[in-house]
Amino acid sequence: MDRVQFEGNKRSVEAMLDNNVRIEILDKDDIKQKIPDLVTDFDDNENTELLGLKNIDYGILGYDCGELDADKITRDFYENEFKKLGGETLFSTRIKKLVLEPVEEELGIPGEPVGWQEKKVGSIETQEGKKITSKMFILATGPWANELLLPIGIDSHSLPLKKSLFRVQTPRLASLLDNKHFNEEETIPFTIFPLHGIYVKPVKYNNSIWIGGGSTVGHPYVISHPDTFEKEENPLDDTQADSRDYEYDQYLILSEYLPILKDQPLTNQWAGFYAMNTIDKNPVVFKPNGIKRLIVVTSGSGSGIMKADAVGRIADALYRGEENAELFGGKEFKVSRLGLKSRDVDKEDFVI
Ligand SMILES: Cc1cc2nc3c(=O)[nH]c(=O)nc-3n(C[C@H](O)[C@H](O)[C@H](O)COP(=O)(O)OP(=O)(O)OC[C@H]3O[C@@H](n4cnc5c(N)ncnc54)[C@H](O)[C@@H]3O)c2cc1C
Repeated sequence: MDRVQFEGNKRSVEAMLDNNVRIEILDKDDIKQKIPDLVTDFDDNENTELLGLKNIDYGILGYDCGELDADKITRDFYENEFKKLGGETLFSTRIKKLVLEPVEEELGIPGEPVGWQEKKVGSIETQEGKKITSKMFILATGPWANELLLPIGIDSHSLPLKKSLFRVQTPRLASLLDNKHFNEEETIPFTIFPLHGIYVKPVKYNNSIWIGGGSTVGHPYVISHPDTFEKEENPLDDTQADSRDYEYDQYLILSEYLPILKDQPLTNQWAGFYAMNTIDKNPVVFKPNGIKRLIVVTSGSGSGIMKADAVGRIADALYRGEENAELFGGKEFKVSRLGLKSRDVDKEDFVI
């Protein structure tokens, strides 16, 4: 961060310290000494002004930041634990709709359930037309949530926003990937730069970095209506990134901070969608008004893996009708705080 950004983030930094998040503030000299290939100061020239480059005056080093393999933890831990409880899993099965039914007996009225009838999700219907019934449905379909919710009038305040990742693989990255100053893996940390949340993630084992972030102002939210296209044409299933987004955007900025990236081609790219909460960029966990047997859990807003353990516990407490959830470490969290009616969470500041 430059000095101005650092001052502006002081409240968040203090909140982290108050919550015992292990961080260290690095000043410019520390940073220059630890990452000699990083440019921290820019002269007043045309490029600096055009791109709005900011100096690096401070860094916040988080000792408990890290990475985990989300697929692996889902498969090898959560799925196994779920099965031990008697759960069953079903893959490659697209749910096409949530079927509303009256809570009381069906009367055979056309368009049932009609306005005055109390409603529940009676079943879900698969792409193949099979119906699955349950006493409760928990919808956790991330950025695809609107496909099933909007047709039954539920607004989760979440919209899909495309985010791309780009890989550069070259021996020129050695000074970043073999760097003894930060951690036992001996790489630079996952590093967020001062502009537009552009970030670099080191991947030591194959001499590469992944690059992401960048401004999304002016980028479209994607609305998809599954009934209007074939299964494989769903825009939300599109994992293609556009390399021009890197070449004309992130690259121009990042290669000023890290000149070792100059003229290095991309070696891979990938895209996915954030389920972006449009109110406060935090997850939502709620029972929709007037529709029984449904809990909605979505809006990871780009940090849903980090928050998954807490969100899962909060969803579980909502299912059981408990007022508070017990989070990891024994901390209590009032379930309604992530709901829509009595929502009470701060805006998420760190969205990259
Ligand atoms: C590029 C990128 C980088 C990210 N980086 C980070 C990060 O560093 N840290 C972090 O914490 N988070 C990160 N995230 C966000 C994180 O991936 C999400 O917040 C998280 O995966 C949300 O989990 P979820 O279970 O709510 O939804 P998802 O992981 O999106 O899972 C939803 C599942 O529902 C399935 N589904 C959808 N529709 C249907 C249907 N109709 N029928 C049946 N199944 C359906 C989908 O196939 C999918 O498997 C990133 C996201 C992207 C796109």
